[in-house]
Amino acid sequence: MNKAIFPGSFDPITIGHQSIIERALTLFDEIVIAVGINATKKTLYSVEQRIEWIEKCFVNQPKIIVKSYSELTVDFCKKENAKFILRGLRTSADFEFERGIGQVNKILKPEIETIFMLTSAAHTPISSSIVRDVIKHNGDISKLVPEAILNEILKLNNR
Ligand code: ADP
Repeated sequence: MNKAIFPGSFDPITIGHQSIIERALTLFDEIVIAVGINATKKTLYSVEQRIEWIEKCFVNQPKIIVKSYSELTVDFCKKENAKFILRGLRTSADFEFERGIGQVNKILKPEIETIFMLTSAAHTPISSSIVRDVIKHNGDISKLVPEAILNEILKLNNR
């Protein structure tokens, strides 16, 4: 079985993440969306909240499961019996960042392959950090986050 881990912060999930996940469904039998818990990284939303929103986006998709993890991504892959790490690439900055992580992961666990998918052109400028900024300043996020969770995000932010 081709099983992939899609690791990230998803603070919150955006239509960029959603698009990569949907496109990757043709490649893998199962995708574990892995919400990383990093004690030193301050997030806007709790891990429980982030997981709930991701689950809501893929409620009718049995090939997708959502979990949190706090170990090294390659160790989580081994635990989950997944041979692939899926990552999205937007820009050359993403590439340089991902190259380092991917090559070190290869040293740590050579049997695990990192698979990169290029973002679609329309989603290139979208990031969770920009979405958080727009939310904080009461901007319109309707074209940035999945429709399934738009109202919940707005409700949480008293709008
Ligand atoms: P991290 O904190 O690991 O960067 P993110 O939640 O920001 O986690 O991103 C998780 C993955 O989704 C990364 O591979 C990132 O490159 C990818 N990604 C983020 N935004 C987009 C986007 N707009 N289009 C495609 N891929 C994206």
